[in-house]
Amino acid sequence: MATCPHCKGHLTDSHRCPRRPSLMAVRILLAAVAGGLAGLLLVAAVDPRGDITSFDTIAMVVGAAVGVFIERALRS
Ligand SMILES: [Zn+2]
Repeated sequence: MATCPHCKGHLTDSHRCPRRPSLMAVRILLAAVAGGLAGLLLVAAVDPRGDITSFDTIAMVVGAAVGVFIERALRS
């Protein structure tokens, strides 16, 4: 039986590629981490001496949220 090039499943007439929640979770996680890092870099660029320490957490959380948002927007 042939296999699907996308999901390696059995390619039947009614074949549909299954959603892969684990893969999506990894992508969202990566997007969140990338966004968080971007936020931290942004704070480091604006505040190189680290005077506003409370900014780090906020920037990381906002960056993570933006990263996830972008990832979802790109996928749809
Ligand atoms: Zn498939």
